[in-house]
Amino acid sequence: MPAFAQVEPLVTTRAVRGPFDYRLDDEHRGVEVGTTLRVPFSGRSIVGVVTATADESAVDPERLAVPLGRAGDPVPPDLVRLALWMAEEYCSTPARALGLVMAPGAGRTRPRRVLHAELTVAGREALAEGRGLTPGQLAVLERLRELGAMPATHAGAAHGSLRRLDVRGLLTLRSAPVRRRPVATSVGAHGLEPVLSAEQEAALAPVLAAIAGQGEDRRFLLHGVTGSGKTEVYLQAAAAALERGGSALVLVPEIALTPQTVGRFQARFGDTVAVLHSGLGQGERYDEWRRLAAGEARICVGPRSAVFAPLWDLQLVVVDEEHDASYKHEGDPRYDARRVAERRAAEAGAVLLAGSATPRPESVVALKRLRLPSRVDSRPLPPVEILDMRDAAHALHPLAREALGEVRRAHGKAIVLLNRRGWSNFLSCRTCGHVWQCPECDVALVLHRSSGRVTCHHCGHSERAPERCPSCRAPSVARHGAGTERVEAELASGLATPDFPVLRLDADSAAGKDATARTLAAFQAAPSGVLVGTQMVAKGHDFPDVTLGLVLDADSTLRFPDFRAEERTFALIAQLAGRAGRGPAGGRVLVQTLAPDAPSIRAAARHDSDGFLEGELERRRALGYPPYASLIRIVCSAPAAGAATAAATALHALLNIPGAMILGPAPLFRLRGRERSQLEIRAHDRTAAVRAVGAAVEAHTASAVGRAASLSVDVDPQ
Ligand code: ADP
Ligand code: ZN
Repeated sequence: MPAFAQVEPLVTTRAVRGPFDYRLDDEHRGVEVGTTLRVPFSGRSIVGVVTATADESAVDPERLAVPLGRAGDPVPPDLVRLALWMAEEYCSTPARALGLVMAPGAGRTRPRRVLHAELTVAGREALAEGRGLTPGQLAVLERLRELGAMPATHAGAAHGSLRRLDVRGLLTLRSAPVRRRPVATSVGAHGLEPVLSAEQEAALAPVLAAIAGQGEDRRFLLHGVTGSGKTEVYLQAAAAALERGGSALVLVPEIALTPQTVGRFQARFGDTVAVLHSGLGQGERYDEWRRLAAGEARICVGPRSAVFAPLWDLQLVVVDEEHDASYKHEGDPRYDARRVAERRAAEAGAVLLAGSATPRPESVVALKRLRLPSRVDSRPLPPVEILDMRDAAHALHPLAREALGEVRRAHGKAIVLLNRRGWSNFLSCRTCGHVWQCPECDVALVLHRSSGRVTCHHCGHSERAPERCPSCRAPSVARHGAGTERVEAELASGLATPDFPVLRLDADSAAGKDATARTLAAFQAAPSGVLVGTQMVAKGHDFPDVTLGLVLDADSTLRFPDFRAEERTFALIAQLAGRAGRGPAGGRVLVQTLAPDAPSIRAAARHDSDGFLEGELERRRALGYPPYASLIRIVCSAPAAGAATAAATALHALLNIPGAMILGPAPLFRLRGRERSQLEIRAHDRTAAVRAVGAAVEAHTASAVGRAASLSVDVDPQ
């Protein structure tokens, strides 16, 4: 038994740098890497994770504290290693990273136990003889004999009478854990295994070989057009991993938006599938976690946080829709689940299988590409038409209006995408030009008519929609631009009938629990209608009866000052096109834009992802962007602009990264009442850059100017 444990106390401050040594005595038998302990720390009792054990300590053992006791489920050692790697890779702290890999509930959630009743041998004999029992007692024992052990609440008798039978030795009452079951989300799921197409076979073969330990490639990119049957390839790869006694991890962008994928895994593999996501209650999530940790469930499906699922003998990691930005975590550590998945697969010797119709340039360069060039049923991809809006008089192009009318006449379905929620983008005073702005951020407030409020989309600040101007008192407020709320209202007034509903899907409409699923189900169930929404409508939904896809203001994503703007615009249009024409009626896509010649929009209209990737890779190479360099963004923020800039300047001086380009300090717009200043690092040697930034940040947070500002590091910013 080791004499000492190195424990990382789970505190969030950057200033605390563990691990710290604790002395183990006899009652800590079995403490190992991953054990969670309660430890005394700066006069408090804190939960910590053991990161190493040792026979010696550099500190005098007499001065070392002893742990207070265990603190819930242990973290599997491979996840401890993953967390420590993540802390470095994302310039965070071990404590923050370990917090992500702990069992749900941070040591406070326990298995739910209920009282079970079971017939004893004496009980059986008493039943056979039938003597000395009241009719009620007879009934209870008979029920137990029929059903075996059962929860006491199901035994059909009051607790007191069960106790009396227990005392007489005729049955035993014991507390046993039960599973809190999440509701299965099988949307249109069927468990039958179809015969693979020749293309699917060809794509699957090298993956199966890799799972069997053959072939050179272990990391794959399944580049297949929308509807090409990628999910079926994942399913059969997962089956192979299970057959070999291993387990599989399947990451999806957002559960609420991809219920079909989850449903198909559940339909195929039943209880072997555990689902982990934030929509589950704490108890349900904990039980699913335990099922995985115990090896009862061997497939985990979930969004980015599921990359930390406690799977044994991991043999396959699937990243579905790998282009999706939701894989990036916005809290500290700002990890990218795709990169973490890659690391985890490599450490476990598992096969990585990422898939998308619009893969990232990074993945195209790094992974072995497998292709599914056509849709499963050989249906063509829908034709895409670009509508030039530069001279448009109305929000809807005449052709778009006509196409929507046609869909209604044919009792079909349409999806309309506008990547901006709310009623109008900003408000101004017609008399004096005043613009309504967030008091905490330097951005305009967005009008939401249904709530009668104007809202900041950055910090959530919200106030009553104005009736007059606060500076000149004029009652003339102009509304500029249109968001999904307004488009929904206009389409509803122009088109909707009881059997042609107009539904909306965006972050506002999806606010309540299950609201997203309900909207999607309503659209699925409706015989015809329109679904309006933000990028949420372009995710992997499979509605075979959608015949029209309409993108409004397609260049809105291009106007972001971000090197990924082209990639995002291309993906959004191509993904929306992927929702249209999946059924026998075929389909078409219309794209309204002010930039009809933008290469990303042109390529999307041609369904030309190879052409797009080629041009994009060339551009990135020329400009020194990923995948040809790594980006690290550091943002210093403080209530006063001076302090933020001073912190960024001081940090800049501490950064010494040979061969890297460091841009800034550059001011960013004020956010949540804090002035911000940014440094951006472009480096070819990623490891060296990350290490240098980590060291600089540590030195910086210890300095006076560093303490005056807070700091966030984003490796691979989105
Ligand atoms: P993707 O994930 O590439 O968009 P899906 O896996 O959702 O495509 O497949 C589209 C549809 O085709 C689904 O309804 C799926 O059940 C069906 N499908 C997939 N593979 C086959 C096959 N080999 N034979 C028949 N149908 C298939
Ligand atoms: Zn704000």
